[in-house]
Amino acid sequence: MKGPTHILGGLAAATISTQLFDVHVQETLYFYSAALFGSVIPDICHPKSMVGRMVPFISHFLLRIFGHRSVTHSLLFLFLITWLTNLLMINGAADIQAGLLIGIVSHLILDAMTPRGIRLLYPIKMSVRFPFTTKTGSVIGETFVCVVLLTFTILSIL
Ligand SMILES: [Zn+2]
Repeated sequence: MKGPTHILGGLAAATISTQLFDVHVQETLYFYSAALFGSVIPDICHPKSMVGRMVPFISHFLLRIFGHRSVTHSLLFLFLITWLTNLLMINGAADIQAGLLIGIVSHLILDAMTPRGIRLLYPIKMSVRFPFTTKTGSVIGETFVCVVLLTFTILSIL
C-alpha cells in the first residue's frame, strides 16, 4: 500500500484500539504520533517510500541487505521495536510503545492485502497474504481500503 493509505491505517488502528478494545492511553499525543510513525516505518526498507526518502542512506542499506518487505515487515521487527522501546526511560514511554506497535501492525495487515504479501516469519522465506488482495497503488483497490478504514474509524468514535 502507499504511504497515505498506511497513515490512514495507523490512525484507524489507533482510534479503534482505544475506542473498541479499551486500550488505555495517558499521553494521547504521544500515542497517536507514535501510531502514525509506526504506520510508515516498516517501509524504511524502500528508498522511494515516505520514510525511505527521509533517510536514504539507511533505506538503501536495508534494501541491499534484507530486501523490501522482509525483516521490517516481520514479527522479528515487532520484537525488536518492543525491545528498543522497553529501553525508553521517559514519561509516556508505554504510550509510545503501544502506538508504535499498533501502527506497525496496521502496516503489516495492509501490506498483507497486496499480492506480494509480507515475510511475516522472516528469516523464513514464506510470503504471507490475505486471500483477497489489491495491487499497491491501485486507484480502485486503495480507495476502497481507505473508505473502509475511514468508515471503521468514524464508527469507532460514534
Ligand atoms: Zn510496507
